[in-house]
Amino acid sequence: MTGDILTLNCGSSSVKFAVFDAAHPKAAARITGKIAGIGRAPVFTARDTEGPLETPGPLNELTTAHTHEDLIARLLDWLAQHHGDQPLLMVGHRVVHGGKSYTAPTRITQTVLSDLDALSPLAPLHQPHNLAAIRAVSARQPNLPQAACFDTAFHRTQDRTETLFALPRDLSDEGIIRYGFHGLSYAYIASVLPDHLGTSANGRVIVAHLGNGASMCAMRQRKSVATSMGFTALDGLVMGRRCGTLDPGVILYLMQSKGMTAAQVETLLYRKSGLLGVSGISNSMQDLEASNAPQAREAIDLFVARAARTLAGMIPAISGLDAVVFTAGIGENSAPVRAAICAQLDWLGLQLDPKANARGDVKISAQTSAVDVLVLPTNEEAVIASACRTLLAT
Ligand code: AMP
Repeated sequence: MTGDILTLNCGSSSVKFAVFDAAHPKAAARITGKIAGIGRAPVFTARDTEGPLETPGPLNELTTAHTHEDLIARLLDWLAQHHGDQPLLMVGHRVVHGGKSYTAPTRITQTVLSDLDALSPLAPLHQPHNLAAIRAVSARQPNLPQAACFDTAFHRTQDRTETLFALPRDLSDEGIIRYGFHGLSYAYIASVLPDHLGTSANGRVIVAHLGNGASMCAMRQRKSVATSMGFTALDGLVMGRRCGTLDPGVILYLMQSKGMTAAQVETLLYRKSGLLGVSGISNSMQDLEASNAPQAREAIDLFVARAARTLAGMIPAISGLDAVVFTAGIGENSAPVRAAICAQLDWLGLQLDPKANARGDVKISAQTSAVDVLVLPTNEEAVIASACRTLLAT
């Protein structure tokens, strides 16, 4: 199989991409890059295995007027002009929601696309952008095969009880269930756990994906048993801009007593809450850690307390705890947040090695700790590329 696989991870204001050699499953991406600041001040950056790449041509001088579609078309041109030594065999996309039907990576067809369109209201922050990327590639290169890789798919191993809300059965049967997200990240961590934990990798592990979006997944045998996100990516932990777990009565109050519309509530819960809403300063943990404002401290404290409580609450689902893994922007980079979460879990016999934590070592638990604690960078792109290799071979 001589050729490249392009992975696209399209968010509301960014497009992340990576180019992998289809013939070398173990090799890291040949090129990785990002268009950030879409709609504000788009900036394109890319690097190969040697270092940053020059970006002449179609990706220079981007403006606020450029849509995701324009930018993806330019990205395809840039790749063809400067890095097209091998043919592109497939484009693999991160697609946040696969609903009940899509439980594995799937080649894109018109039917698949319209099924996924119907799921957009369940992930309004992500799904429309994921699907726009698929359409942008089709418009530019209609014959190029594309695949969708779903964040929900990893959690389909859960028992029915874990997926149910205590709602009338007809609503569950209709699909109002807990789906869970960040599955590509969890699949990657599950794939590398044996390298770091040996046989304990198949034990009782909780992975904390703490980024702008944040969730946790409790695994046994490296499969999802429970997760903190639910029907939508709003549930669970405090996030950059999302509220996480909320008494549903608050939503009724906002609508009935404050006269807010559904659209206003959606904006409030998805874009104005979380770290940003509580601090009134920023959605970024790094900004809050740099601030002396008491509101910033309060937002971090809430983030930490919810994370520790959620982690502890998942332990019964896997009957104990052998290891905790921190990943994503905050999990990989914030030693203070990791330390604060672990401090609230010391009653489990979980102890950090403060120096290893400050250095960001892979293993940050003390020798005497009853629970291993690891920091592992996630790599959703590698999971998408691997799924594309499998689809290309079948
Ligand atoms: P992600 O969505 O995985 O890119 O993660 C974004 C989050 O990671 C933001 O809240 C960032 O502020 C946070 N982050 C990135 N680097 C650091 C750092 N060095 N210290 C604290 N938080 C960080």
